[in-house]
Amino acid sequence: MSFESLGLSKALLKAISKKGYTTPSPIQQKAIPPVLEGHDVLASAQTGTGKTAGFTLPLLHTLSENPKQKFRPIRALILTPTRELAAQVYANVREYSEFLNLRSAVIFGGVNQKPQTATIRQGVDVLVATPGRLLDLQSQGLLSLKRIEIFVLDEADRMLDMGFLRDIQKVIDSMPEKRQNLMFSATFSKDIKKLAHGILNHPVQVEATPENTTVEAISQKVYRVAKGLKTGLIIKLISEGNWHQVLVFTRTKHGANRLSEKMVKSGITAAAIHGNKSQGARTKALAGFKSGKVRVLVATDIAARGLDIPLLPHVINFELPNVSEDYVHRIGRTGRAGAKGEALSLVSADETSFLRGIEKLIDMKLPIEIIEGFEPDPNASTAPIKQGQGRQRRNSSQGGHSHSKNNSNRNNNRGNKSRRPRRGNDHRN
Ligand code: AMP
Repeated sequence: MSFESLGLSKALLKAISKKGYTTPSPIQQKAIPPVLEGHDVLASAQTGTGKTAGFTLPLLHTLSENPKQKFRPIRALILTPTRELAAQVYANVREYSEFLNLRSAVIFGGVNQKPQTATIRQGVDVLVATPGRLLDLQSQGLLSLKRIEIFVLDEADRMLDMGFLRDIQKVIDSMPEKRQNLMFSATFSKDIKKLAHGILNHPVQVEATPENTTVEAISQKVYRVAKGLKTGLIIKLISEGNWHQVLVFTRTKHGANRLSEKMVKSGITAAAIHGNKSQGARTKALAGFKSGKVRVLVATDIAARGLDIPLLPHVINFELPNVSEDYVHRIGRTGRAGAKGEALSLVSADETSFLRGIEKLIDMKLPIEIIEGFEPDPNASTAPIKQGQGRQRRNSSQGGHSHSKNNSNRNNNRGNKSRRPRRGNDHRN
């Protein structure tokens, strides 16, 4: 199948060929036709499958085919959970619309709102936004969603996980009822299905990879190791393997900082990315990693969500996530575009129950290896790592929230017992 055969306009085909894409990815093949036909779509797709082009290309096609309105209202809204994802989606929208007469903008929190509102005032057709800043500007009367024709909810599962349910509802309430809705999610919990039911109208369902399974091109392995020997082992693996682009996951922000510092001390260029870092520091770390200046990027789950790093060869779980779905998200960073990736997990005794949960979710046993000198501690307890007391307070900077009003919304959401299990550690993100 070719992009031409999907019926996309010449201007879009030109932009696609400029990007160097030759064949539509499976999710693009499945999602583009129903979106072009005007259907609501519910798509199961992880980052790395080409999902962004899967909704952006037909969205741009539709907008450019339909007549523009006089005052250039916002006609399409793409809602993303994190700033990084918003920035990446926007970059894609810009690239794909290069030869179209459509304007786009991105808004997220943590940065001055003035340049964002100035752009919106000039009129934009496509707006990419995180929920907090969107509602913030809306409540100040600085933007209107009353003329939205197409609404995209990207990474819906992460939206719920970050407590954005109420915010999503508010956004939906401020849009016209008659519109096309596209919803993308990597996992499909009961809550996601419920949300989809509330938003989508007779959706066409498309799937890139089977639900809750890991990408086949990824080779996965577990290193059983004593907790105190993990840092030494990861440094050995990266140094001896001579790996140059490694994404490492830790469970906590402090853990990410500590590990990154230890790597730097041992001569491996590394940077940490998490919710306590300023937007500038996060962008710089990511740029350094992408350009190859930084060998190792140490990230927490939420910070890493949406990172667009093509052909990432190595992902290492320095610690396993206690929410099994996060494992699938994490290793989805590798094995992209047909390239083989490697996902390694360093597992100590207290993570045994997390490992079991992951194996159950992905329905396979992960191969185990023990490296001489880095053996597991036979006397260590297999009692799970203690989760923090009470419910965790999410860092407000994550989803672009800059308004205290919105924080209280999220706190309210936390009372919703039907949501996915929360992680309970104050130092996460
Ligand atoms: P996404 O899943 O949208 O984050 O896309 C993952 C990566 O695949 C991005 O770097 C895209 O630029 C790239 N990509 C998207 N569609 C294609 C395609 N049809 N062929 C090759 N690469 C693509």
